[in-house]
Amino acid sequence: MKIWGTPLAVLTTAALLSLSACAAYTDAPAASTSATATAKLQVAVAFYPFEFIVDRVGGDQVSVENLTAAGAEPHDLELTPQQVASLSTVDLVVYQSGFQPAVDTAVQQAQPRATVDTASFLTLIDASADGAAGETGTSAKDPHTWLDPTNMVTIAEHVRDALSAAHPADAQAFAENTETLVADLEHLDKTLAADLSGCAITPFITSHAAFGYLAKRYGLTQVGINGVEPDVEPSAARIAQVQQIARTNHVTTIFFETLVSPTVSESIAGDLGLKTDVLDPLEGITSESRGTNYLEVMTSNGAALQKANQCS
Ligand SMILES: [Zn+2]
Repeated sequence: MKIWGTPLAVLTTAALLSLSACAAYTDAPAASTSATATAKLQVAVAFYPFEFIVDRVGGDQVSVENLTAAGAEPHDLELTPQQVASLSTVDLVVYQSGFQPAVDTAVQQAQPRATVDTASFLTLIDASADGAAGETGTSAKDPHTWLDPTNMVTIAEHVRDALSAAHPADAQAFAENTETLVADLEHLDKTLAADLSGCAITPFITSHAAFGYLAKRYGLTQVGINGVEPDVEPSAARIAQVQQIARTNHVTTIFFETLVSPTVSESIAGDLGLKTDVLDPLEGITSESRGTNYLEVMTSNGAALQKANQCS
């Protein structure tokens, strides 16, 4: 048996290789340097919500690499030299310029074949509209575009177009996948609109001011204890200000989030005898997340706000 073991193993490997060769695209342009070693379009995404979109739009035809490791906080992302180099070989990079400086620099250096830069077509709102004006002074625009599901629809359509340009043979599949995703996002939008209508309390208080787009879409007001950057310590004056807003508006709950320490939120809530709860800015998905994907976690966010703000 031992004698036959090796040739059989070789045969099996050869059979598998020929199988995967069959699955490879046969109509790849002659200029393509990626040979047929892999059958899938390679896409790098800057952080989780873009991974969700590319997974859904690309389906089996696409392999996605998230530059922000699971459980890591994307604002202060640093990239390894290997990650930067990988951007020059992938078929598409999906990112948002102005959000993660390391990704902006890497895209400039690596010159990817194609990019989708969400900041080039979405309307970014002012960070100062988030109720934390002047607290950090680090960013004039709020980067958290993905917390409005209608922005996710627009991003999905751009990803669909970019994937179709990279591989026209699958354009039909990408279009169908996008239709299904858009239907899911529109359903989410309707659910959130229903959950967050007729609220007794308009403001909600959160640790890092990530929810400006969500607040704007559904008619609430965000009060960020911190600014749009999650890891900046709030001043004593800002904490006093937030406590005053909480008292005046009969706020019931101070929110914190999954990837950032809850200490400040817990201390403010403790001082005022209020509850704490989680609002998740979807900057990553972990086992702590209230849901396994963008749609589920956003639904959980809506339910938490509905309860805290006493919506009908
Ligand atoms: Zn953030």
